[in-house]
Amino acid sequence: MPLFKVAIVGAGPAGYFAAQALHNQQNAERTFAIDMIERLPTPWGLVRSGVAPDHPKIKTVSKVFEKIAADPNFRLFANVEIGSEISVAQLQEKYDAVVIATGSSLGKTLGIPGENLPGSLSAADFVPWYNSHPDYVDVKVPMDCDTAVVIGAGNVAMDVARMLALEPSELDPTDTADHALATFKTSAVRDVYISARRGPEHVAFTSPELRELPKLEHTNVVINKEDIDAAIVRAGAEPEKDVKSNLDAMLLIAESQKSEHERTMRFLFQHTPKQILGIDRVEGVVYSTPNGDVTVKCGLVITAIGYQAAGIDGVPYKNGKVVNTDGRVKENLYVVGWAKRGPTGVIGTNKSDAAVVIGLMITDMKSPKNAGDIADLLTDQRVVDQSAWQKINEAEVAAGEPKGKPRVKSTKRDELLKLGLS
Ligand code: NAP
Repeated sequence: MPLFKVAIVGAGPAGYFAAQALHNQQNAERTFAIDMIERLPTPWGLVRSGVAPDHPKIKTVSKVFEKIAADPNFRLFANVEIGSEISVAQLQEKYDAVVIATGSSLGKTLGIPGENLPGSLSAADFVPWYNSHPDYVDVKVPMDCDTAVVIGAGNVAMDVARMLALEPSELDPTDTADHALATFKTSAVRDVYISARRGPEHVAFTSPELRELPKLEHTNVVINKEDIDAAIVRAGAEPEKDVKSNLDAMLLIAESQKSEHERTMRFLFQHTPKQILGIDRVEGVVYSTPNGDVTVKCGLVITAIGYQAAGIDGVPYKNGKVVNTDGRVKENLYVVGWAKRGPTGVIGTNKSDAAVVIGLMITDMKSPKNAGDIADLLTDQRVVDQSAWQKINEAEVAAGEPKGKPRVKSTKRDELLKLGLS
C-alpha cells in the first residue's frame, strides 16, 4: 500500500488538526507517515502559550492532540527550527507534501505616535509572557500604575483586560507563569479600560466571553447603558444573531453592574486611538471620539488588534499571511490555520479548515517519492520526540499537583530539554 510522507511545520492546533485529517483519510489505497516539526521544545502552540490561564476548559483540547500523537504513524520533532536549521525547500525534497502550520505570532501595530514608549506593548508579547513562553519571559510589563488601557475589541483584548482586572489570587489554581503571577500580585493597577474604535454593535468579542464577566468575583465591570441603547437602535430591528447576542450580553452587564470592588474593568466605545502620550514611558492615550478628543491617563497600554504571520524563508507572504489558494502554496507545499486565513476563528475552526486543505492535497498526490525524511537533515541531537515531550508534560503536571495547579510550566529552553532528554 502506498505510504506518503507528510511534514507538518508547527505543532499548534492547526498542525494537529491537519495530522488528524490525514489520519482520517487513510484507506486501502494510501497511508500517511506524519512528521510534526516544532521550533519550541514543547508542542500545542496557542493552547499552551495563548489560551488564557483562567480558561482551563479550552485547554482540554490538548487531549485530542495527544490522541492524534499516539498514532504509530505520527512522530514529533520539537526543538527543530525550519528556516534556519533546515530549509523548507529541503523538506519539500524529502516529503511528498509539506504543510505550514506556524500561525500568526506578530502583533499588528497601530502606527500612531508613542506606540514604542516603554509601557506600551502588544498582546502578542504580553500573552506569551503570562503563559511562560520561553522567548517572552523578559518582556517588561510595568504595573506600578493605577490604570491600564487595552486597545481592541476582540477576544484577545478581552483575555488581556480580564487578566489585568482580576483579583490575582483567582489565578492561584491556574498555570499562569510564576513571574507573571508575582507581578500581578504586586500590581498597582485597579482600573482597566478596554477600548473599541467602533460601537458595541461592531465588537469582535463573542458573547460567551461577555457573559463570563459578571461572574468575576472581585471586579466591577462597567458598560455605559446609553452606549448599548444607541447601538441597539443602530443595529436595527433584525440584527445578525451574533450581534444581538453580544448586545444582549452587554446590556445585561450595563444593567447589573457592581461598584463595591476595588478593581474595575470599563468599556469605551467609539474611541479611536490617536496618540500614546509620554516622554520616557507611557502617560496616557489620546482618543478621537464623536465628542472630540479624549485623554485617558494610564501607565500601561496593551494593543490587541490582531496578528500577522512571521515569515519563513522559502514561503511567500503577503498581508501577514502565506500566499495561497485554498491552502495550496506551490508544488507540494500547503498551509493551514492562521498562517493560511489570518487570525480568525476559534481553535475548532482549524479542524474543518485543515480537513479541506488535506482533501485538496490528496487529490494532488500521485505516488510516494521515498526520498527520506527529516532525520537525514538533523544536525542538533537535542530533538524532543513524543516520548521526551511526554516526560516534560508529566514533570510539569507533577510540579503543579502540590500547588493545586494543572501544571507548572518551565520557562527556560534548557530546563525543558533537561526534563525531556535526561
Ligand atoms: P479580532 O477578533 O480580529 O479583533 C481585533 C480587534 O481589533 C477588533 O475589535 C478590531 O476593530 C480592532 N482593531 C483592529 N485594528 C485596530 C486599530 N487600528 N485601532 C483600534 N482597534 C483596531 O482579533 P483577536 O482579538 O486578536 O482574536 C483573534 C482570533 O482569536 C479571533 O477569532 C478570536 O475570537 C479568537 N480568540 C478566541 C478566544 C476564545 O474563544 N476565548 C480567545 C482569544 C482569541 P474593528 O472591528 O473596528 O476593525
